[in-house]
Amino acid sequence: MKSVEQHISDLLGLVAVPEPTELDLLRAHGTVLAEPVVSPVSLPGFDNSSMDGYAVHAADLADASAAHPVRLPVVADIPAGDASPTAIRPGLCARIMTGAPMPEGADAVVPVEWTDGGTVEVSVDRPARPGSFVRRRGEDVHEGATVLGAGVRVGAGEMGVLAAVGRRSVPVRPRPRVVVLSTGEELVEPGRPLGPGQIYESNSHMLAAAARDEGCEVYRHGFVGDDPAAVWDTLEGLLVRADVVVTTGGVSMGAYDVVKEVLSTKGTVEFTQVAMQPGKPQGFGTIGPDATPILTLPGNPVSAFVSFHLFVRPVLRRLRGLPPTPLPSVRARLATEVDSPEGRRSYLRAVLSEPTAQDPVPTVAPAVRQGSHQLSALADANALLVVPEEAVALAAGDLAEVLVLPRY
Ligand code: AMP
Ligand code: MG
Repeated sequence: MKSVEQHISDLLGLVAVPEPTELDLLRAHGTVLAEPVVSPVSLPGFDNSSMDGYAVHAADLADASAAHPVRLPVVADIPAGDASPTAIRPGLCARIMTGAPMPEGADAVVPVEWTDGGTVEVSVDRPARPGSFVRRRGEDVHEGATVLGAGVRVGAGEMGVLAAVGRRSVPVRPRPRVVVLSTGEELVEPGRPLGPGQIYESNSHMLAAAARDEGCEVYRHGFVGDDPAAVWDTLEGLLVRADVVVTTGGVSMGAYDVVKEVLSTKGTVEFTQVAMQPGKPQGFGTIGPDATPILTLPGNPVSAFVSFHLFVRPVLRRLRGLPPTPLPSVRARLATEVDSPEGRRSYLRAVLSEPTAQDPVPTVAPAVRQGSHQLSALADANALLVVPEEAVALAAGDLAEVLVLPRY
């Protein structure tokens, strides 16, 4: 059996980082920048007021106090967006709003709270320092400065920065197009009546959601039965939509393991056993005229889920232009004992609790139902507890490695 690490490295060998594409700002959310972004403008673009108040010459207010307020004539009114504010001579002031350009001559803003709010003449009851409540041109970003680096994921904050420096579009890695296909004669689309021996199809919904959470564009084909010709025809028809294909089911040792049967004779797909539980039977390779990468996951829903997080996720990350890092890992104290098969690494669905003031080491509680067909604990689990190959059991209180599942 092959190690988990070896399998991940084989899978990463299938994919390269794609060429950049220019995407409109609105479509760039969740993609990864292919090049650094340099600001064509300074931020702020001009000196402006950080408060609603009065633009003044600070020197005029040197002697202002509550007992002896200084009175200044208000000679202009400057709202945000004012194109050419009047210059202010010493001894005068202008009413000014937050974000409005500073008038020439004035060197400070007095917040309206320090005044009587007058519109013809204003009374100010304390001194102002030069520069106070003025946002200086370029104090946030200098024109020509790099505001975002290559490889940065465009999240909400990054969107704000891109828009603020006036970018309409950005060079990013294209969102990977993932095709998800399940196989199984027993499967029925949720919402329809179930016949004898049938089950609802859950894997493709689960994997489509997981791939979307990873910033991919997903085409969920749903499922096909266990007829080899139908499986191959369906796969072939889907290739035009795919940068990567993910299938589930039909890869173990059964008589109707159709994915294995069909792909063993086509393309370069290799079927192997990975030293893990769940998720032992895995297949990977390329198919079709463009050598499209395909990952064939086992059909048990929990095996498919674990396989996604261990194997599919790093592949998708590389395609997105992110480092193909594994899930973040922490050490945690086991709440209960667990067993594990010898020679295979177990990934148990578990709930990881926050560390407390009394115990800085987090606690991890494995779910009670760990069968690879037992889906119920998937929704509650926020982590995968790892039991190493050589261990057949861990005791309550032992420290163990825990992979933290992403929460979106
Ligand atoms: P297989 O890998 O095709 O032998 O399937 C293993 C187990 O997973 C069987 O019990 C299947 O019924 C179940 N299974 C396979 N595919 C799916 C699916 N898409 N949704 C839910 N269960 C599935
Ligand atoms: Mg099957």
